Amino acid sequence: MTLMMKAKQVADEVYAAIRLRVEELRRLGVVPRIATILVEGDPASAFYAQAKQKVAEKLDISFELHTFAKDVSQQEILRLIAQLNKDPQVHGIMLELPLPKHLSAATIESSISPRKDVDGVTPQNKLATMTGEVGLYPATPQACIQLLKYYGYGLEGKNVTLVGRGQTVGLPLFHLLQRENATVTVCHSRTPDLAAHLRHAEIAFVAVGRPQMIVKEMVHPDLVVIDAGINETDNGKIVGDVAVDVSEAVAAISPVPGGVGTLTTAVLYQNLLKALEIQSQGQEVR
Ligand code: NDP
Repeated sequence: MTLMMKAKQVADEVYAAIRLRVEELRRLGVVPRIATILVEGDPASAFYAQAKQKVAEKLDISFELHTFAKDVSQQEILRLIAQLNKDPQVHGIMLELPLPKHLSAATIESSISPRKDVDGVTPQNKLATMTGEVGLYPATPQACIQLLKYYGYGLEGKNVTLVGRGQTVGLPLFHLLQRENATVTVCHSRTPDLAAHLRHAEIAFVAVGRPQMIVKEMVHPDLVVIDAGINETDNGKIVGDVAVDVSEAVAAISPVPGGVGTLTTAVLYQNLLKALEIQSQGQEVR
């Protein structure tokens, strides 16, 4: 029978550990605080920001939401980030994407202090993700690996096929997988025969953003699949990049919803505590 790698239990364990640490910090007079920047215009990112706020409240983490109108100037956002970078009460800064076309996500992300960059988007943290140096690694790729490991699967020496090389998930996940000593094949939109690469894989990670693009005919019964995709269908349903009936044809799979996405927010707050540690120890992220 196929193992469904649900994330609720592991997320609850991560949250319990975070809550304990937050209590400890509060006793020491430190209130962990995250600032989220949201530019209006994308309902999904507004929804995600609110969801993170609710989680922060449950964890007793202080959460400030900075919402800008969709015609905000880049200068205005950069000014806010400069203030947040300097503010010792703020330990984490997060920018919700996508942004309206007149704004450059890369420029804005690069202006975040790498020591407060809880989603690992600055050039310094991208480099740290590659090298394993001190830093804050992106949340979703970490969630993919944590979920897999929670269910007892190792990565060392394994044949891994990664579908997608996007900046948010695929590319940083590739670096983390390399550092786990997996043998990684990276597939993308120009890969002619995706099924051939899934056939020889022991573990597959899928992060494309195309609803149910991996179908039953492409997989095999010993394959373990982590689906990072989050896609909204026309009728408002959330589906992954892997078709639902693939679960009948593999050894183990992470569901959507209830898989990687469920763990990602927990990892984001793990990163906030790591950021706080980096700051309190005066460490640099280079
Ligand atoms: P991007 O759009 O940045 O990257 C998509 C990747 O998929 C690209 O590398 C692209 O190839 C590849 N691709 C596109 N079409 C195909 C195809 N037919 N066959 C193989 N590869 C293909 O995506 P993101 O990294 O931003 O996100 C990936 C997914 O992860 C999305 O579904 C997103 O919603 C989800 N996500 C989930 C999160 C979570 O918390 N679980 C958080 C963030 C994102 P090429 O490079 O050649 O263009």
